[in-house]
Order: sequence, then structure tokens, then C-alpha cells
Amino acid sequence: MLPDESLPIRLMSTIWADAEGLHDDLREPSDVDAWLDAVGVDRHGARTGADELVSARALRDAVRFLAAQVTGDDRQAAIAPVPDVGVAVRCVNAAAARLPAPRLEINGEAVREGVAIDGSAVTAGLARVAGESIALLGSSGAARLRACYAPGCVLYFVKAHPRREWCSVACGNRVRAARHYEKTREAARARQA
Ligand SMILES: [Zn+2]
Repeated sequence: MLPDESLPIRLMSTIWADAEGLHDDLREPSDVDAWLDAVGVDRHGARTGADELVSARALRDAVRFLAAQVTGDDRQAAIAPVPDVGVAVRCVNAAAARLPAPRLEINGEAVREGVAIDGSAVTAGLARVAGESIALLGSSGAARLRACYAPGCVLYFVKAHPRREWCSVACGNRVRAARHYEKTREAARARQA
């Protein structure tokens, strides 16, 4: 979903909807592996563990909850099951705090930058996504965050240019088709009256 968007938006888009209802792309640990690969976060061959799946889902739900707050989103289906904004903020902060710290390493005579990885590369990857979520939700860029109000859609996007109204071309087309259908129906009713 939404391949050109930033990591936070792509994480939010792991909950999506179509005519059959809501879908969740993060149900199994291997789903998180596949998602990290799809968005280009290197997991250095590490596989997602059961608690990392829980963390990834919790981060996703927290970021969606905060996006709903920021955008004044009132679509019930879109709103993540998070108790309140404090829980959501703590969840994102805790995930971001697992980002490996930079450090210096001695390589022969030279010192160079290395990275201390204590946890797995999956946790580090999720920490990077959390860090970018903080940058998005906590900055002036949050003012450009939008909920997509195309019928049935539950996605968020960044309004990168003034005319963008929908998350995707597909949603825009569906809205135009629905409007066209409404118009032809009204015209038919007017003729009958
Ligand atoms: Zn949409």
C-alpha cells in the first residue's frame, strides 16, 4: 500500500480496507519480516520474534491512533484500539528508544563510526520507524497529514501538494465514479419528476 510514502505512513497502511472489509498485513511474525523488506528497512537476516510482532502491531496502532487525533479523523473503522493518547505516545517513545546508539570503534590505528546492536535488527528497524513517526507527528509536517475520506478507505497520507485529496489514484477514481453515479441518478430522477 502507498509505496511512495514515508515509513510511518506505510506502517499505518498495514491496516487497509476494500469491499470485503478491513485487512491487517501484520498478523504473523513473518508478515513483519515481509513488511520491513518491502519498505527497505534492512533486518540483516534477523527474523521477527513473537514479542517483536506484538511490538510492531502496538507501534502501528499507536501511530494510527495519533494520526486520527492529528487529523480529527472520525471514521470509526479507522481508529485503532488504543486507550488514550498517553498510552499511544509512550508506546512510540519506547519503540524509538530501542534505536541502537552510534559509537566509535577502533580499527587498527583508525577510529571509525560503528553501531552497537544489543537487540535484534528487527527491533532496531522498528525503532527507526518509530523515530520517523515522532518526526512526522511531532513536527509542523503533521499539519499536512490527512485521513483519506474516500468511501470505505481507512488510510492516512501526507498532503504533499495542494490538490491532493485522496490517499491514492484508485481512491480518487472511486470517488469520481461514485459522484458520477450520483449525478446520473439525480438527472434520471429529475427527468421522472
Ligand atoms: Zn484512500
